[in-house]
Amino acid sequence: MELGEIRNLFEEWKKRVETSKDLEEMRQTFLGKKGYISQLFREMKNIPPERRREYGREINLLREEIENFIRQRGEEIKERELEKRLKAERFDLSLPGDTVLPLGSKHPLSGVIEEIVEIFKQMGFAVETGPEIEREEYNFDMLNIPKEHPARDMQDTFYVNREGYLLRTHTSPVQVRTMLGRKPPIQIIAPGRVYRRDDDPTHSPMFFQVEGLVVNRDVNFANMMFVLREFLRRFFETDVPVRFRPSYFPFTEPSAEVDIGCVICGGEGCRVCKGTGWLEVLGAGMVHPNVLSACGIDPEEYQGFAFGLGVDRFAMLKYGVDNIKLFYENDVRFLKQFKSL
Ligand SMILES: [Zn+2]
Repeated sequence: MELGEIRNLFEEWKKRVETSKDLEEMRQTFLGKKGYISQLFREMKNIPPERRREYGREINLLREEIENFIRQRGEEIKERELEKRLKAERFDLSLPGDTVLPLGSKHPLSGVIEEIVEIFKQMGFAVETGPEIEREEYNFDMLNIPKEHPARDMQDTFYVNREGYLLRTHTSPVQVRTMLGRKPPIQIIAPGRVYRRDDDPTHSPMFFQVEGLVVNRDVNFANMMFVLREFLRRFFETDVPVRFRPSYFPFTEPSAEVDIGCVICGGEGCRVCKGTGWLEVLGAGMVHPNVLSACGIDPEEYQGFAFGLGVDRFAMLKYGVDNIKLFYENDVRFLKQFKSL
């Protein structure tokens, strides 16, 4: 094709280029590898040598002209298209938001702790907390657990690298601290993490406890039975059978273990209750006079009761979970099942 013909084609294209797509097509047609301008250069060899310089100059001029046109028209088109898009895409601020963002939920143990705390608060208990690295004295001695007691053995207790300190094995030191710091009447619960050298399907080396303490004049065992029955009835949301069995703890006298009718089988006997129809859920008793004395409270004037429960045990029973580890592995597939908490 002749240079003149290509110039005519260019003039025709100029009139009908409307969009950036047209423009790109034009660029390919004229400036592409197999485009007209390349063709013209390839025909250079058929041009007499004395005309070649002039011929090349003309092609270059045409190419420049085409390039300029494409650049300029490109900018115009871009501007026009942007304007058009801005007109079309208006934000509708009244549209509902995107709700697919995943929402987390409370850990089942947190949910159960809150539930337990709430029930006791309704019964007039205040919440107290204390350190997890505790003085051996507060964890054992002042609770009437003498030096030779097996609970103090290295096999049961995590001692820390500082003489006289350990990871608390129960939240009872919070009771000691409360009695040391305040005169009766005392009516508190102490929820928190505790540590023992235990590790099997029903024991974890770190677990959660809630303990309670009431100290006042004329506090008796019957008061304690009422509070615990009432708590269990509210927690399991049914008139669950409750029984008190005589037991022994160093820090209470008399002491009792509290059972409820198995909430899994309804008392018929199953794997969880080991066929007995009963589940042990609490330890309790009247505060030992030695403990009151050690904490500066006159046992002749005041009495108290105390109780303790394992949060994990309550969570396992409430949700029918048979391995305590599931609460600590934090597998999202497990945790997702408690989304409504
Ligand atoms: Zn059972």
